[in-house]
Amino acid sequence: MIDSHCHLDHDPLFQNLNDIILRSKDMGIEKILTICTTIESFKNILNIVKTDRIIYGTFGIHPHETNKNIVTKKNIVKEISFNKKIIGVGETGLDFYYNNSDKDSQLKSFKKHIEAAIELDMPIIVHSRGAENETFELLKNNNNLKILMHCFTGSSSFADQLMPLGAYFSASGIITFKNSSDLQDTFKEIPLDKLLIETDSPFLAPVPMRGKKNEPSYIKYTLRKLAEIKKIDESELDKITTNNFNNLFF
Ligand SMILES: [Zn+2]
Ligand SMILES: [Zn+2]
Repeated sequence: MIDSHCHLDHDPLFQNLNDIILRSKDMGIEKILTICTTIESFKNILNIVKTDRIIYGTFGIHPHETNKNIVTKKNIVKEISFNKKIIGVGETGLDFYYNNSDKDSQLKSFKKHIEAAIELDMPIIVHSRGAENETFELLKNNNNLKILMHCFTGSSSFADQLMPLGAYFSASGIITFKNSSDLQDTFKEIPLDKLLIETDSPFLAPVPMRGKKNEPSYIKYTLRKLAEIKKIDESELDKITTNNFNNLFF
């Protein structure tokens, strides 16, 4: 299994990094991608990717943080080119549900990340909440942009728009929640070769761990649920999602 999206620089994961990595390996996790959200946190990401061979990282500014973290395409390209274990651009995107940063700064930042991802020829990790039209408008018309929709919770019509762009869709613990039947239906429609799995830990612990702090080893519950939704064998879906990650990032 591969956890395609988590935040190991957040506590309690960061405080317990060695145990978290050991438990992940015991669970059969072969790679973990820890996602950057601010300029400042990138220093921690660089330290964390050094601690173990299974850990990779990204550089990017979360849409919640774009008021305080202004980046240019050049900044992004430079930070990422420095280190071989930094393999993606993000997380970026648009969050008009919380609007923790103003819309204009989110839009500007997202555009810079898109330009950088194209120049680097690396996947862009997209967070989208309450902003389906705006997200699609910015993602379309970019040839050669490798799109990963992280923690996908969008509508089925949004998924339909994104599929022709070659987007990958990552399922989080949200698919295990009781009230997620619409989302489960959307995942039924997404082709197997475009699916990834993630924990988004320490947030969004899946059932039956809901209420606890999430960690990468809980990825198995999301894999199990997605296998049930796709009506295929869990070990088969493990192989498929692992291959998908490796095809997208390597
Ligand atoms: Zn996110
Ligand atoms: Zn995230």
